[in-house]
Amino acid sequence: MIRLKLSSVGWLLVYVLVVCIPLVGGAVNLAHGRGFGLNFSIALGFLSLSMMGAQFVIAARMQMVSAPLGMDAVLAFHKAMAYPASLFALLHPLLLFALDGKYLELLNVFTSPLRAKFAVLSVLALAALVLLSVFRRRWRISYKVWQMSHWVLALTVLLAAMAHVLLVNYYLHDPWQRLAWQVLTLLFVGLGLWVRVLKPLMRYQRRWRITHITPDAAGTASLVLELVNPASYGKRGFQFKAGQFAWITTRNTPFSFSYNPFSLASSAESPHCIRFAIKQHDGFSAEVPHLQVGDVLYVDGPYGGFYLDDEPTAPLVLIGAGVGVTPLVSMLETLADRQSPRACHLWLANRNEDSIICHAQIQRLQERLPLRVRHVFSNPLVKLAQPVGRLDADFIARHLPSGALAASYYLCGPAALMDMAEQCLLRLRVPGHHIHRERFGVV
Ligand SMILES: Cc1cc2nc3c(=O)[nH]c(=O)nc-3n(C[C@H](O)[C@H](O)[C@H](O)COP(=O)(O)OP(=O)(O)OC[C@H]3O[C@@H](n4cnc5c(N)ncnc54)[C@H](O)[C@@H]3O)c2cc1C
Repeated sequence: MIRLKLSSVGWLLVYVLVVCIPLVGGAVNLAHGRGFGLNFSIALGFLSLSMMGAQFVIAARMQMVSAPLGMDAVLAFHKAMAYPASLFALLHPLLLFALDGKYLELLNVFTSPLRAKFAVLSVLALAALVLLSVFRRRWRISYKVWQMSHWVLALTVLLAAMAHVLLVNYYLHDPWQRLAWQVLTLLFVGLGLWVRVLKPLMRYQRRWRITHITPDAAGTASLVLELVNPASYGKRGFQFKAGQFAWITTRNTPFSFSYNPFSLASSAESPHCIRFAIKQHDGFSAEVPHLQVGDVLYVDGPYGGFYLDDEPTAPLVLIGAGVGVTPLVSMLETLADRQSPRACHLWLANRNEDSIICHAQIQRLQERLPLRVRHVFSNPLVKLAQPVGRLDADFIARHLPSGALAASYYLCGPAALMDMAEQCLLRLRVPGHHIHRERFGVV
């Protein structure tokens, strides 16, 4: 926990330092004659621009950042920073208009200079970016369309803003200021090349092939994959921690913009043969049941901070619902392969007996582990045979195992279930750092 906190604080510091570089540059050589208001407005513009650039870095799925923090925390930070960055971008021109009405003329793109045209383009693209992100679900925009538009608009915002800065040419006179901007631009272009060209090329070398595909419960398909070229991961081979996830795509090219995140549902002790259980929705996941044995998949991962701890004997309580069982099954498979003596408890909420995903796997695990499974069905097929109802606070309080305060808890399911379970465990005095959560709906 302390390590996690330190790395969060460390990365936050790096973020603040990086986004403030242009401010420091301006402050060192401040043009006092321009007055506070104008300088403040320019500072807001620079701050917004560097925050926008940093948004690309945050969303670039870098293992270095996502491993210690967790991908959902990284994406939550990306979302949270979008608001102040947009606010500063809007305040920058608004302040100018308030200072002097002459700046309003720059809004007329038919007569305004090129630098102002770029500013207007950047702000309009930003407004579209924010609106589409906030109202994506309400406007029923498909995730794929939204994702593409998000990339195009974000790139437009950033490039137009950079063109505006270069054409305005404030605080860019000194050679070292120009150099700093050139270095930042190069870093940005380098990141783009890494994410969009080099990483996909590497993924092509490290492509996977489907060896088994079987239907599972509740419209889920189970895929087993093996590496086409096992040597491509070097001596150590592909490795992951039980509970982590990967972004995958089945398109014919690793350069696809559209990768979807899925938990690895197999043992971390057999990383050469991985398994996913994928529930059908409307987009990519609906294509999965139509895949064939032998089809190629590109896997970007592993990612995530939701993984099994190294505790040798502390009891393990896994709480899940529906397809949220996948990372939990990976943890159990891993412990079974390690012949772990840990007491394991799996509490699963499902609609009925037929909707338990990975059911056969769970049954086999009960023979290989000290594992106690409790199912809760909201609408059981066989009435009275199983407890009807919900996996709620009462259920948790009644079934806590002995040694509950030392146990590790892993929660994966709908947000409401995880919030309830976490609150309940905290009320029962389980230390917060013993509780781990994975959210499937990060975007
Ligand atoms: C860490 C993590 C692990 C997951 N593990 C599993 C798993 O093991 N099994 C499983 O069935 N599901 C899992 N999911 C959920 C899964 O990623 C989505 O259900 C899936 O991407 C939906 O794809 P779609 O294009 O068919 O859905 P659509 O019908 O197009 O979209 C449904 C919703 O899925 C989400 N989604 C769609 N595409 C993406 C994307 N590229 N990136 C992020 N979110 C997206 C969006 O919130 C969207 O509104 C996991 C999600 C996360 C974040």
